[in-house]
Amino acid sequence: MAKIQMKTPIVEMDGDEMTRVLWKMIKEELLLPFIDLKTEYYDLGLAHRDETDDQVTKDAALAAKKYGVAVKCATITPNAARVEEYHLKQMWKSPNGTIRAIMDGTVFRAPIIVKGIEPYVKTWEKPITIARHAYGDVYKAVEMKVPGPGVCRLVYEGDDGTELQETVHRFEGPGIVQGMHNVESSIESFARSCFNYALDTKQDLWFASKDTISKKYDHTFKDIFQEIYDSQYKEAFEKAGLTYFYTLIDDAVARVIKSRGGYIWACKNYDGDVMSDMVATAFGSLAMMTSVLVSPDGNYEYEAAHGTVQRHYYQYLEGKPTSTNPVATIFAWSGALRKRGELDGLPELSAFADRLEQATLSTIESGVMTKDLALITTLPDPHTAESGEFIKAIRERLEG
Ligand code: NAP
Ligand code: MG
Repeated sequence: MAKIQMKTPIVEMDGDEMTRVLWKMIKEELLLPFIDLKTEYYDLGLAHRDETDDQVTKDAALAAKKYGVAVKCATITPNAARVEEYHLKQMWKSPNGTIRAIMDGTVFRAPIIVKGIEPYVKTWEKPITIARHAYGDVYKAVEMKVPGPGVCRLVYEGDDGTELQETVHRFEGPGIVQGMHNVESSIESFARSCFNYALDTKQDLWFASKDTISKKYDHTFKDIFQEIYDSQYKEAFEKAGLTYFYTLIDDAVARVIKSRGGYIWACKNYDGDVMSDMVATAFGSLAMMTSVLVSPDGNYEYEAAHGTVQRHYYQYLEGKPTSTNPVATIFAWSGALRKRGELDGLPELSAFADRLEQATLSTIESGVMTKDLALITTLPDPHTAESGEFIKAIRERLEG
């Protein structure tokens, strides 16, 4: 069988621990036999990040901007324990944070739906994709403990001499206060990434905040979304038969629970943090969540939403059989291949991505799955496979 040819390379970002082990298996069993795979390889494994003083992460992000499509393996975000474990020069920043800052992107997370893994919410038939604004609000807030009676004010001193003041509260006794911010350019990038991704994936877009209470802060989010929609996206949405829908966050939550799924839910930073864990858990498994970083100018970085599965890796190092779920990492590759195929006009490459996903899902639907899924499936008598065995079963279907 002739291998599928590629034109432009995919930016390949290798990672750490168990997912690094799966990465190699996926390439060897599911990609290289079928595709003349072209990648530009960056080793984001922690040892190599340390060797290069984390330059490799920045180079990889710049390459993603240059080529437009990247696929990333999960990576360790170092903490004190990791600094010791890997004898690091310093506690390097989160690679995902570095890449997101360089690409100026928004992260979209969506569950992979498969028969036999049923969502807790009975009505959910299609995936709900969460888009989380990844800048500012409470994550960049300053806070104070107020010791006793006194007044707290918000003060703005403009470089041009403008001054604005608001009294936050006149305290009669001890209390707490918080100052948070956002910037219009970041909200605009977020909005454009959301509208683009909605058109790209042919899904409606919902956005919610609390503008009735927060008449300047949240209302600015609402206004920016509406202005960008009206001036730049309305026509394309109408043509595609899609809707942009704004509502209050509490109303959105109620509607989401009663919905059938199949849309993108754009959330402010904190809402996205909370709601993505809620949606992921309600869909059944963190190991079945995909994640894609989309920049406002249309660059894509695909990955699994889960981490490096450290606990399984230590078992693997002891030579114990491991049944780690590779599905989200496989879907990261299929997402990148499909997008590369679309951009380069290579329908066979996109069709292969579809076949790879189909083969993965039908393997699970036939009853062969990793332990995490076997524990929660509604299918009778599932066969629990080790990672390698599961990937080989997918390969058989791809060849069959
Ligand atoms: P994790 O790797 O997501 O794993 C947490 C637990 O979830 C696992 O121990 C396992 O549960 C289950 N799990 C997650 N993915 C699974 C899979 N594919 N198959 C089967 N079970 C799966 O989170 P963590 O252990 O908190 O973090 C480990 C490392 O990953 C950390 O160093 C962190 O910095 C990094 N991380 C990276 C990313 C990223 O690169 N995007 C994201 C998050 C975390 P059981 O142990 O019960 O089997
Ligand atoms: Mg969280």
